[in-house]
Amino acid sequence: MTNDMGAVWDEVNRMSDETFPGWRAVNLLYWATSLAGEVGEFCNLAKKREEGGPRAQGLTTGSLVEELADVYIYLQKTAESLGTSQPQFAAVIRGKLAQVRARQTPPPG
Ligand SMILES: [Mg+2]
Repeated sequence: MTNDMGAVWDEVNRMSDETFPGWRAVNLLYWATSLAGEVGEFCNLAKKREEGGPRAQGLTTGSLVEELADVYIYLQKTAESLGTSQPQFAAVIRGKLAQVRARQTPPPG
């Protein structure tokens, strides 16, 4: 399995360093609010698509995925603001998956 997300993580950090020096020192509430804002933008597009009609005109799956990319970027920045690296975050995700798998595995017998 390749780790393309690791390269993306590094690229987001690099660009953030270039465009927003000191971003790692910004407080958690800033990043949490930014993350919530991007989730809200995604939800608003999903709502418009569900409603249909003229407001859904030109609303493509690609535009929804672009909002999810914004969510990912702010999710990463929020994790970084907590001092969490990409490998650490990946390990936490794998741990969560293992917990779900364990809950869904029927007990032997
Ligand atoms: Mg956005």
